[in-house]
Amino acid sequence: MIIDLHSHTHASDGILRPSELIQTAKGAGVDVLAVTDHDTIDGLDEAMRAARELGLELLPGIEISCFAPAGEIHVLGLGIDPAAPGLVEWLDELMARRRERFFAMIEQLGAAGIALDAEAIITEHGERGSLGRPHIARALVAGGHATSIDDAFRKFLNKGRPAYVERYRLEAADAIAHIHAAGGCAVQAHPGAMGSDADIPALVELGLDGLEAGHPDHSPGKRARYESMAAELGLLVTGGSDYHGDPAGRATKLGQGRTAEAMLARLRERSARYAG
Ligand code: AMP
Ligand code: ZN
Ligand code: FE
Ligand code: FE
Repeated sequence: MIIDLHSHTHASDGILRPSELIQTAKGAGVDVLAVTDHDTIDGLDEAMRAARELGLELLPGIEISCFAPAGEIHVLGLGIDPAAPGLVEWLDELMARRRERFFAMIEQLGAAGIALDAEAIITEHGERGSLGRPHIARALVAGGHATSIDDAFRKFLNKGRPAYVERYRLEAADAIAHIHAAGGCAVQAHPGAMGSDADIPALVELGLDGLEAGHPDHSPGKRARYESMAAELGLLVTGGSDYHGDPAGRATKLGQGRTAEAMLARLRERSARYAG
């Protein structure tokens, strides 16, 4: 059974529409897929409809960007209820912060002599959903200012580069609390690629439920490291592809990162407790 608990749609920085993502996942033999867009659930309705039609099991999710003491981390909310009270209002606020940051990045690029059409990027992306650096990266590549997405991040968008704008400071404690309130499990995404292991015990104190050991950015050594850390700390272990569907971006295939069936069952039990 292929259980992939990390993927993105066009509602954040993925390329595919939610229904296209579900079709692609079905074609890749995925049995259970979590859709986990950055800071938004706007893609979930369409994804759930498509999943029902195609007979794929969908776990509604989200990936929240937030801060632990040592720096930025990403926390997956797996098994959330998109209709949970207060969830949409909270995410609308995060969307507004992302939009402010987006315009600030455009402005800084302008000051560096690169004029991008912000409205065109927004129109192409859609009025709703979460805007981020990848959207600007794609425009930089399209405009010939960078040779690839990675080049755009290295030249302009990474910390210390001309277009970098620090994100709104959402605390990990708030992210975890909101995920639990929506009936989801909070799992730290790609801990080996972002964040510091020194923060993990404090995150567990805050209610962190699991670690994403299976991620394309993790070497086999890192994967084993987070699996054993999770076992020691009594945490769940998940895996996912972090698929964005972007041929110019990171090469990862749906189903590449996988979660064990027994873990999915434990995740569901915990979710039910948070929802109850
Ligand atoms: P943001 O949330 O706006 O800060 O954008 C961060 C997102 O950009 C990450 O979650 C990744 O999906 C993507 N990203 C970051 N660095 C790179 C890179 N070098 N190449 C491709 N995508 C990247
Ligand atoms: Zn992304
Ligand atoms: Fe991430
Ligand atoms: Fe992701």
